[in-house]
Amino acid sequence: MHHPLSLYNTLTRKKESFEPLHAPFVGVYLCGPTVYSEAHVGNARGPVVFDVLTRYLRYLGYTVRYVRNITDVGHLESDADEGEDKISKMARARQLEPMQVAEQFANLYQRHVEVLGCLPPDIQPRASGHITEQIELIQEIITNGFGYEVNGSVYFDVPAYNAAGRGYGKLSNRVVDELLAGSRDNLAGQEEKRSPLDFALWKKADARHLMQWPSPWGQGFPGWHLECSAMSRKYLGQMSDIHGGGLDLMFPHHECEIAQSQGSHSHTDEARVWMHHNMITVNGAKMSKSLGNFITISELFEGTNATLSQAYSPMVARFFLLQAHYRSPIDISDEAMQAARKGYRKLMNGLRVLEKLVLPEGTERAADTAPADTELRKLTQDCFTGLNDDLNTARCIASLFNLLRKFNSYAANPTTLVQVSEAALTEAATAYRTLVQDVLGLQDEPRANAQDLLGLALSFYQEAKAAKDYAKVDVIRAALKEQGIVVKDTKAGVDWAYSEE
Ligand code: ZN
Repeated sequence: MHHPLSLYNTLTRKKESFEPLHAPFVGVYLCGPTVYSEAHVGNARGPVVFDVLTRYLRYLGYTVRYVRNITDVGHLESDADEGEDKISKMARARQLEPMQVAEQFANLYQRHVEVLGCLPPDIQPRASGHITEQIELIQEIITNGFGYEVNGSVYFDVPAYNAAGRGYGKLSNRVVDELLAGSRDNLAGQEEKRSPLDFALWKKADARHLMQWPSPWGQGFPGWHLECSAMSRKYLGQMSDIHGGGLDLMFPHHECEIAQSQGSHSHTDEARVWMHHNMITVNGAKMSKSLGNFITISELFEGTNATLSQAYSPMVARFFLLQAHYRSPIDISDEAMQAARKGYRKLMNGLRVLEKLVLPEGTERAADTAPADTELRKLTQDCFTGLNDDLNTARCIASLFNLLRKFNSYAANPTTLVQVSEAALTEAATAYRTLVQDVLGLQDEPRANAQDLLGLALSFYQEAKAAKDYAKVDVIRAALKEQGIVVKDTKAGVDWAYSEE
């Protein structure tokens, strides 16, 4: 019943029918966070989008290996391979071990993406745990003539690579000559590089550098782009199926990853499909740490950012991230979050509506259910059409709402259920449940306050006692006991305790 899945490939600039290299296996790699401070809401988009992608691939029957890395070394303050390592800098400022900083923010990130409904990746490798693999990759690149050592640092030779016809810039659609013209004045502090386009594979570390390892070129640490090429190859092979990240990673990060893999003994583009999700803006302006214009994930969950009038739950945030197609920008504002909450609750209420779709007793199905079945099956199929079209979750959600409208009309007039066959109805209900809960990963959140509900139950208990309605008193006692609560009648009034049985 499903159309084939197509995905937009940044590398070819077109939507392609997705065919795994070695079906039924699919290897997916998502560039994860650099764990030097708390992630902002924009950083949650990648994990949520790729969670839906891997969930959907699994739903389609593929055996997925999903790798999402943690960058704990090598990411410098500037993309031009200058400045301090982001994690070292934070560690120095807070007088901590760099790995303490990495651990703290990696744990926080994990907790956040977990409550956002992201299933854990199959492998979560760290850059610092793969120094050997990275050194090996550099050696291959040097052997192939695309890397050179200066003063204990090793750089990737972009002009040599390009002269060999490998096409540096093919992912981000950049022309080397134009890049060169734009970077002529930019060589300050980069004298070691033969060309300003060259990028660091290995950087020499001086004594004050907190994170360093021995290498054939002396003490140092790997360049940021290197870890993903090395870890993708280790866990997904020389060529994986899908590699992704935010649009801001397309250049230089992913461009350099491709160059490293092409320049190594792998001789591949590292991944066949390169996927990039768009960014999140705040009230129309780009959200970024460097602009100081961002909402952290905790601030969103706690409502402690001036942009927001209140807290929004993780599932509302997940719905918010999925109600737009991943290649479109999304603007976060209080109004947008409120609309997301409304939409999320509507989908959740739909799950309960499904339970009411029962043919009233004594009614019989119509002789010809074909017309209603055709309509219902089309509404059901539409929900998949959106997902199959480059993982368009926005269209999928809109189609789910259309299907829900139909469910609601059945629930309001159960006699109309006679027009539709049991099979078509079950198919529709199963699709709705599966897409909402298993593929979009939207779960019901407990939002009622347990203390308030207990207080309410105890007030009914008191009323029943005052009215000497002992049957009701017993019912309330028994119901609370089911919940592990014992009601106690004391001189001072009604009290409760946890059952110790
Ligand atoms: Zn990466």
